[in-house]
Amino acid sequence: MSLLYVDAEAIQFTYEITHYFQNVKTDYILLPSTPLFREATAEMAVRLSASLLTDCIALSVDNGRLQGLRPSLNGKSFSHYAFSDDQPTVIVVKDTGITEPRQNLLQSCVKVAELSASAPGNTAEKCPGNHAAPGKIVFVRKIIHENVSKDIKDAPLIFAGGRGLMNEQSFEALRRLADFFDASVGASRPVVDCGWAEPSEQIGQTGSFVHPKVYLAFGISGAIQHLAGMKNSQCIIAVNTNLNSPIFQYCDYGIRGDANSIIRNLLQILAV
Ligand SMILES: Cc1cc2nc3c(=O)[nH]c(=O)nc-3n(C[C@H](O)[C@H](O)[C@H](O)COP(=O)(O)OP(=O)(O)OC[C@H]3O[C@@H](n4cnc5c(N)ncnc54)[C@H](O)[C@@H]3O)c2cc1C
Repeated sequence: MSLLYVDAEAIQFTYEITHYFQNVKTDYILLPSTPLFREATAEMAVRLSASLLTDCIALSVDNGRLQGLRPSLNGKSFSHYAFSDDQPTVIVVKDTGITEPRQNLLQSCVKVAELSASAPGNTAEKCPGNHAAPGKIVFVRKIIHENVSKDIKDAPLIFAGGRGLMNEQSFEALRRLADFFDASVGASRPVVDCGWAEPSEQIGQTGSFVHPKVYLAFGISGAIQHLAGMKNSQCIIAVNTNLNSPIFQYCDYGIRGDANSIIRNLLQILAV
């Protein structure tokens, strides 16, 4: 068993991977839920006339057929999805930190290929998966060369910031503090929308699911969509000015206070 590696930017990638699967009959195309894949999959599914299941958190094989599990109603309930036989299905699998889906996935993998998309146009020729048998699964894995030094999904320590930090300078101060502790940086969605943090740093339902030993939340309210991504942290420490913020119901340690002055004071004490 080998893996299909693709190394390309989003647009190039969408083109290459669509072109590849137009030539290779495949029932299921399984992709990890990274920012690049989330961007590429909708277009890819349309071009391939394929069904699309995003945010899949578990896969199982029943009577030789793949089934997917996906949270709905903001994580309050879960839906099972079976897939039709008459069209391919693109499934975006969320890495929840739980190994079982990936094990199921790998057990289900019967066809693997090796590909470098770095040479445009050569994709199909280079890919030994051309002879993939119908009804088999090709496992696609992307190695991303992003400017992210630590993979947040496996990070043991995360310093995360929310809208309560107020501005980009404060978020940069949080980064300096995180750097000092060799921690990864996480963010709520509004922070990413404002451009203070990278999409790959977003934690939550539409970002990454994380499970660090310690998760520090500075100025994050604890909306259900954010909690979905970080509630499996072993220890949650929250700093928030508002005692009624939901995060205080989920944290192990809560500090009622101004996140910015706490970060500033820590940087000063640590001489960072
Ligand atoms: C379909 C869908 C998907 C979503 N996916 C995600 C997702 O993946 N991740 C995500 O994060 N959100 C997601 N959201 C958005 C989510 O609903 C919330 O809007 C978001 O999480 C709020 O971010 P926040 O806590 O940073 O901001 P806010 O809700 O504005 O909270 C800011 C907090 O900072 C506190 N605060 C203010 N000033 C200070 C200060 N000086 N010091 C300390 N605390 C202070 C406030 O009391 C407040 O609790 C999604 C929403 C939808 C509808």
